[in-house]
Amino acid sequence: MTAMRSIIPPVAGRLQQLPPYLFVQIDAMKNRLLRQGRDVIDMGVGDPDEPTPGFVLQAMVKAIKDRANHQYPSNKGLAVFREAIARWYRKRFGVTLDPAAEILPLIGSKEGIAHLPLAYVNPGDRVLCPDPCYPPYRTGTILAGGIPVSFPLFSKNQFLPDLDQLKKQARKAKLLFLNYPNNPTAAVATLGFFRDAVAFARKTKVPVCHDAAYSEIGYRGFRHPSFLQAPGAKEVGIEFHSLSKTFNMTGWRIGWVCGNKQMIAALAKVKSNIDSGVFQAIQLAGIQALRDNGGHLNRMLRIYETRMNVMVQALQKAGWPVTPPKATFYLWTPIPSSKRSQEVAADLLEKQAIVATPGVGFGRYGEGFIRFSLSIPTPRIREAARRIGRLAVWPYTTASSP
Ligand SMILES: *Cc1c(COP(=O)(O)O)cnc(C)c1O
Repeated sequence: MTAMRSIIPPVAGRLQQLPPYLFVQIDAMKNRLLRQGRDVIDMGVGDPDEPTPGFVLQAMVKAIKDRANHQYPSNKGLAVFREAIARWYRKRFGVTLDPAAEILPLIGSKEGIAHLPLAYVNPGDRVLCPDPCYPPYRTGTILAGGIPVSFPLFSKNQFLPDLDQLKKQARKAKLLFLNYPNNPTAAVATLGFFRDAVAFARKTKVPVCHDAAYSEIGYRGFRHPSFLQAPGAKEVGIEFHSLSKTFNMTGWRIGWVCGNKQMIAALAKVKSNIDSGVFQAIQLAGIQALRDNGGHLNRMLRIYETRMNVMVQALQKAGWPVTPPKATFYLWTPIPSSKRSQEVAADLLEKQAIVATPGVGFGRYGEGFIRFSLSIPTPRIREAARRIGRLAVWPYTTASSP
């Protein structure tokens, strides 16, 4: 019998252009170890392990029983949810937002980030993306037919871009993505940097799209500013935000974008043709999350801080030059220049059954680092620390290491 030839056409060019999935090797190795019964510690994905707080669950249970929430939500989101976001921004950042025009709920901020280029990018247009970065800035651009133009984040500049240098790349660019506290580098920005970003946008006419997913995850009292605190920010850009990381709600799919009216209207137009908004019960639960007086968040921050201390101490003892970050639950860890990040991640997995993400997966300037995510239970972090201790000073005595 001859095999039936597929009549399915090849996928569109835009799909073919998406960068290859870089973790095939790591995934395959992880699955092999799991099949062998090895106790694999997965510090690859940034997905909070602690549950969504009970007060959010209770609001959800109540909302789900109300049949008014069973129908299509409004595309603009519930007014009460937008108002809760506005109150939260005012209280947290001192920023005033018009809930009717300057806030739009999203089905997770990734959704809005990936759809935004459809609103502004014509085929061949350029979008400025940090390197390393959260992948949807680039892939959303490609799916819209645009060209992601990378600009490097260097350790020597605290992983902040050189905006003067970036001006040279800004010609004909339609959007600039920024993200602080940063994934994957855990770097932070200052209000001064955000002021410079506003000046950059005015000068180059490239609007700023700031991703603030980790704004609440800061240690030892550190509170990260919002891009919208910079004077004039609302005239030149938007900020993406999310309940995912702050409230352990990654599975719920809820976030928002706020700031520039025109940009928000444009994204709303795209979205009204693609999705039908966020389940209203989830928006109502989101309102409760935003009412947290700090009890939940402070508990989470203590947990992450403990984990961070355990990991940093173990790595330092084993000779890795890591410093505890001010924000995020990532440890962006330098590796020896003699090794590639994929090799180090493979070694770590093979020898100690620990999964870390090779920096190169976030862009070529991510080479030279691996990322540990601390979003796994503390006892597992302690176990990872013990295993790292067994590596002795590997890989910093690389010359003769196997
Ligand atoms: C996790 C994360 C988000 C949040 O994604 P959601 O879609 O809101 O869950 C956004 N940006 C970055 C950089 C992230 O790491």
